[in-house]
Amino acid sequence: MNTATGQITASPPDTSRLARLGLAMRRHRNAIIAAQWLVVASYLVLVAVPAFLPLPPDQAHLWSNLTRFAQFAFWGIWWPFVILSIMVLGRVWCGVLCPEGALTEWVSRFGLGRGIPRWMTWGGWPFVAFVMTTVFGQMTSVYDYPKPALLILGGSTVAAIAVGLVWGREKRVWCKHLCPVSGVFGLLAKVAPVHFRVDRSAWDAAPAGHRTSREHGINCAPLINIRRMESASACHACGRCAGERNAVQLALRSPDAEILRPSGAPENAAEETNAWPARLLVFGMLGVALGAFQWSASPWLVAAKQAAAGWLVDRDIWWPLNETGHWWLFTYYPEVNDVFTWLDGGLLLAYIAAETLVVGGWIWGWLRLAGMLTGLPWRRLSQTLIPFAGISVFVGLSLLTTSQLAGERLVLPWANDARIALLALAALWSTTLAWRLAGRNRAAAALGILAATAVPLAAWGTQFFVW
Ligand code: SF4
Repeated sequence: MNTATGQITASPPDTSRLARLGLAMRRHRNAIIAAQWLVVASYLVLVAVPAFLPLPPDQAHLWSNLTRFAQFAFWGIWWPFVILSIMVLGRVWCGVLCPEGALTEWVSRFGLGRGIPRWMTWGGWPFVAFVMTTVFGQMTSVYDYPKPALLILGGSTVAAIAVGLVWGREKRVWCKHLCPVSGVFGLLAKVAPVHFRVDRSAWDAAPAGHRTSREHGINCAPLINIRRMESASACHACGRCAGERNAVQLALRSPDAEILRPSGAPENAAEETNAWPARLLVFGMLGVALGAFQWSASPWLVAAKQAAAGWLVDRDIWWPLNETGHWWLFTYYPEVNDVFTWLDGGLLLAYIAAETLVVGGWIWGWLRLAGMLTGLPWRRLSQTLIPFAGISVFVGLSLLTTSQLAGERLVLPWANDARIALLALAALWSTTLAWRLAGRNRAAAALGILAATAVPLAAWGTQFFVW
């Protein structure tokens, strides 16, 4: 309150280093746009050019061969550390560096600018898109070959551009509704200790002439109602609204804060009625992704393949043992003796499906039980597993980092110990979150989450130390 005039005024601007960084992001928007275009150019070269080059010879190095370099950049550095960065900084990757986000937003300036159709707002798209791209990536060995990388990453970029050309004006409709990793990023950002915080009372106290974000020229590309923003899930942390009405600032928070908001709070309502984020967490990040990371190392798959092949040969059925002949469906590189038959492909799909059902079903069962005992919706309780699921995905992607480094004779013998220690710490974090979230029967909540993490933890331990 301004005691001299009797009017309500906005709270004084925060001058912390982080808040100043947020304001600098807004002030230096052109520098961010320049960085985005630099990433776009590098991305297009790395995703497109290797697909038209011959496969690298065995002795090729990542510093001397573009294909090897692109593989390391995409799968060894980009994906694992984007996952980690989102758990720490929120979706800065999306708002500052993502080439697809930059392209879809840029082309939407010149497109048709149509309204978002109803079908696109279906909450299941992030789950479906994540599962489809993950499974298709395994079918085509996307980590190992540049053509499927161009098909999957490039295809996603073309789709992002097409969506930008039809729907929205200077917006990121693709990112909000259809991006295959947007759902995962939205979950992980909930535990980020860095976020853009909105002080609603300060916002409302702003002079009447400044009531709409448009009057201030803020273009929130992922279409967020900034005044009501309570979660870091949808915010791309682009910094465009930093300092607005002295109400928005880049700030620190407890990484537990968003998960531990009281159940039934208005900001939780959408999450408690929408089951898709919980399904993505349980059956996507801890089911399909785990299967995708594990199948190629599994001796069970080899045993199943031998048994199935024997069964087919005994019955004189040969076609599943023949080559498929389509690189865009199943791995097909006869020049390096890497060819999936229909049997290989079918078993790979069956393995991922089985691991999804076993691990995801196990976790889901414990969430339901703990939910019943604590009175919490299982979807809400599932959020306590975000740290564990995020670290599980990071650990899986880090396998690509170390295997590529091992190809360069840089072996990290401590890597698996570090991975299992990280996973155990993340399981502990999830367990304490469940304890603190439950209003009653805290022990049941904590034990339920501990039990839920046991099977995926055992699956990782088996891969690291038994297989
Ligand atoms: S609320 Fe919108 S404009 Fe503000 S930082 Fe997040 S994405 Fe950017």
